[in-house]
Amino acid sequence: MLRYFFSLNLFIFSLVAFAQNDTSYWQQHVEYTMNIDFDVKKYQYDGEQELVYTNNSPDTLYKAYYHLYFNAFQPGSEMDVRSRTIKDPDSRVGDRISKLSEDEIGFIKVKSLMQDGENASYQVKGTVLEVRLANPILPGNSTTFDMKFEGQVPVQIRRSGRNSAEGVALSMTQWYPKLAEYDFEGWHADPYIGREFHGVWGNFDVKIKIDKNYILGGSGYLQNPNEIGYGYEDEGVKVKRKGRKLTWHFIAPDVHDFTWAADPEYIHDKRTAYDGTTLHFLYKDNPDIKENWVNLQDKTEGLLKYFNKHIGQYPYKQYSVIQGGDGGMEYAMSTLITGERSFGSLVGVTAHELAHAWFQHLLATNESKHEWMDEGFTSYISTLAENAVFEKDPDFPHQRSYNSYIGLANSGFEHPQTTHADRYKYNAAYGASAYSKGAVFLSQLGYLIGEDNLQKTIHRYYDEWKFKHPTPNDFIRIAEKVSDAELSWYLNDWTRTTNQIDYAITSVQNDVTQNTIIVNLERKGLMPMPLEVEVTYEDGSTQMIYIPLRMMRWTKPNPGVVEEDWPWAFPTYKLELPVTNFAITKIEIDPSQFMADVDRTNNVKVLK
Ligand SMILES: [Zn+2]
Repeated sequence: MLRYFFSLNLFIFSLVAFAQNDTSYWQQHVEYTMNIDFDVKKYQYDGEQELVYTNNSPDTLYKAYYHLYFNAFQPGSEMDVRSRTIKDPDSRVGDRISKLSEDEIGFIKVKSLMQDGENASYQVKGTVLEVRLANPILPGNSTTFDMKFEGQVPVQIRRSGRNSAEGVALSMTQWYPKLAEYDFEGWHADPYIGREFHGVWGNFDVKIKIDKNYILGGSGYLQNPNEIGYGYEDEGVKVKRKGRKLTWHFIAPDVHDFTWAADPEYIHDKRTAYDGTTLHFLYKDNPDIKENWVNLQDKTEGLLKYFNKHIGQYPYKQYSVIQGGDGGMEYAMSTLITGERSFGSLVGVTAHELAHAWFQHLLATNESKHEWMDEGFTSYISTLAENAVFEKDPDFPHQRSYNSYIGLANSGFEHPQTTHADRYKYNAAYGASAYSKGAVFLSQLGYLIGEDNLQKTIHRYYDEWKFKHPTPNDFIRIAEKVSDAELSWYLNDWTRTTNQIDYAITSVQNDVTQNTIIVNLERKGLMPMPLEVEVTYEDGSTQMIYIPLRMMRWTKPNPGVVEEDWPWAFPTYKLELPVTNFAITKIEIDPSQFMADVDRTNNVKVLK
């Protein structure tokens, strides 16, 4: 028996060792080389794209998909029809796409597509190019696609486009034929309807030939700064721009997208941040906004410092804040934001989009499926960073997110967060779910496992998942490993259901003979939580009482007085306090308000 026991032990040991060195994760890889010739008068461009695609999956691929996002900006497109049929359309879109004329629409037309020198057969369905491969791609193999295409930049409707409301000439986002991602869930050839992206990690080498008066910014490092100038040149270099057009050569390593913007009137400021990162600011030469854009630069460095410290070191050598687009949107190594804003709003939008450099452009979740992970985590951390750079320290920094989530929960229009980003009944319900409920997910996780463990979880999430595609489960597993608490129930109830948290103090009984009071608690909502109950005494002192949740199999560090755990299936709980109510003035469930209780009116009992 001893020998058998011994070998079983070895067997278990090898299983554990395997689990800790899990190599099952894989991701596809792209190498884009693009040559673009741009006509600024027609807003059209010719493109040549060589794409070396490596299939790191265990599957043989027989087809491939590309996104042709600009095709969304055509009357009758899915984006157009969706915007005209949803009850609360984005005011920037409305029915504007339906009114675009031929020379105002956007398009990407594929002129030819070869795979390893052979013609591939393809067809275009809206914003998606469907390709039947000439040669299947075996696991571990690479293939080369050569595409010729032409594009037309649409009038600015949403995110990308020409001549924005603030007069920026070209916001070139989602502007090239972009290979769809293939991951453990298969192809993600989502049509472009309103929002959210999921791209393939890789490297971009992009040459853009354009009128020499245009100043560019975006993803990637400029390779020929001394031919270009416009503030990119090395110090002391005198730049002579020859010819009618200039070719801007960019290289963007380890990214999953490539974006640029251009305008002949951009001011370009450069700032070297404390960690060596070069911050570029490109904004219109408009006297109304200049002062704000100059003052933004110090705040941006402060924000970078905050995110470096609280998430992980920004790994690229540069980041660009560029006036463009129609609000604020995150891209690889850059953001496009509107610039005619109050200073607070300008810093706020920069904080949000810069935070996305981590929660999307490094920790690249599939936004269409898990919109709360990029928007929610970004909202959570950017609120804190904004407070830090303005030296504010509110007790309850995420108040707005909680209010918005609780409003959603009580509205009757809530969908589970697993809903595809395009499939919400109302845009407003998507917004409150992705941004607010997503931010509360993290803040409330701090309530569950403690702030220290939350911080450690975010750091470890960054360390283990940067430059990859993490899933909700990957995140919660890290929180479990960091804290030692069981948390799958939290991920499940919060993100996959619309179950609500509602705990109540139903009554308080006084037993003078026993010198005790009984606080009767009830779980009224379906979603369980551990409880922190604060008791306030006549002399003003307070005591925190912690009731663990049994299914969490864990007790929070330094919670105060720890009571018996509460099995979730029991709707009620008797909390016994060894005092009479003569000594107690108030009892309150979760005075921190970090637990998203949808009805706080029943959380407090004032005894005198
Ligand atoms: Zn965002």
